[in-house]
Amino acid sequence: LVARMRGFGTTIFGEMTALALAHDAVNLGQGFPDEDPPALMVDAVVDAMRAGHHQYAPGPGVAALRRAVADHQRRCYSLELDPDTEISITFGATEAVAASLLALCEPGDEVLVLEPTYDAYTAVLTLAGAVEVRVPLRAPDFALDLDALRAAVTPRTRLVLLNTPHNPTGTVLSDAALAAVAELCREHDLLAVTDEVYEHLVYDGRHRPLATWPGMRERTVTVSSAGKTFSCTGWKVGWACAPPPLTAALRTTKQFLSFSGGTPLQYGVAAGLDAGDAWFDALRERHRRRRDLVVDRLRAGGAAVHSPAGGYFVTLDVRSLGHEDGEAFCRWAPAALGVAAVPVAAFVRDPAPVRSLVRLAICKPEPVLAEGVDRLLHARDV
Ligand code: PMP
Ligand code: GLN
Repeated sequence: LVARMRGFGTTIFGEMTALALAHDAVNLGQGFPDEDPPALMVDAVVDAMRAGHHQYAPGPGVAALRRAVADHQRRCYSLELDPDTEISITFGATEAVAASLLALCEPGDEVLVLEPTYDAYTAVLTLAGAVEVRVPLRAPDFALDLDALRAAVTPRTRLVLLNTPHNPTGTVLSDAALAAVAELCREHDLLAVTDEVYEHLVYDGRHRPLATWPGMRERTVTVSSAGKTFSCTGWKVGWACAPPPLTAALRTTKQFLSFSGGTPLQYGVAAGLDAGDAWFDALRERHRRRRDLVVDRLRAGGAAVHSPAGGYFVTLDVRSLGHEDGEAFCRWAPAALGVAAVPVAAFVRDPAPVRSLVRLAICKPEPVLAEGVDRLLHARDV
């Protein structure tokens, strides 16, 4: 393994899921839903296969899906995009982010990222030779510190990499925060890549893409994916929306990462997007109830938790359960309590301020969540 990738090891998500499986634990670690995508999407995949769509999709993606993404961006956000020159289908949001960063960052370019930081960003920036500059979302509320963001900009800053709703904190960047990011990008001529995979999972406030702010459409790559929106994380169908020059750039790198993938699945996702917004509303309300169940039940048991405004994750402070170290807790809990979680320390460089915090996935049926929470509350007794 090349020197710069040593130390990445196995992702914390894979590691904790392996522990959960080994101990038959309730898995509140890795963020994947225990539910199926809409049946009409599965039917559309089968139909696409029966119709003979078994070969490579065009590099930019199946035309029907690029058109469906354009319709979605118009319907939800009043963003007008040309499916031929401004939308690319990728192998999940992961590839969209990778293709964008590898296309847009020269070695030595500085990239601003929110910390806690999703692990794939760090890995890809490392591969690109870019310099990751982290701007903290600080506990307890994990709001973006706009002064810290402004102070992080230097003459070498090239790009801002945002994630809202945010993994792992659940922060939904406010309109004021997004407006400030947009102003910074315009003032310093920065590009932006925004990871919006949880766009339809906002419980408090609303999701507004950075690309909708004045002057941002022409400098922003907006990334999303079907995985969270349609509960099909294994399909790995994502997309990148960007103006023609940025689209041309990311397609150049994307074609050598995967070229294209999942042709029949792309038809399935097109059918899901075309089916209208009722699924999004039901998904959001289902997850709002799940969030409330986890937060309320933990609080009723005396635990200290942060209630997220969006996304898949609740943050628990294990000091309220008589423990000190979140990482040790997560290695111990699958066998001792029969429940798995992920330490927030895995998302930061300096673990000290988040040492006692663990991330709990809420994308599970309510009885599973109730059982998981009750097992967590037993931590005090053992
Ligand atoms: N970005 C964020 C913030 C995520 O949490 C995840 C995974 N849950 C991804 C990207 C990966 O998305 P995909 O599976 O579509 O590659
Ligand atoms: N994004 C998911 C999470 O945060 C996991 C994705 C993965 O396992 N790479 O849990």
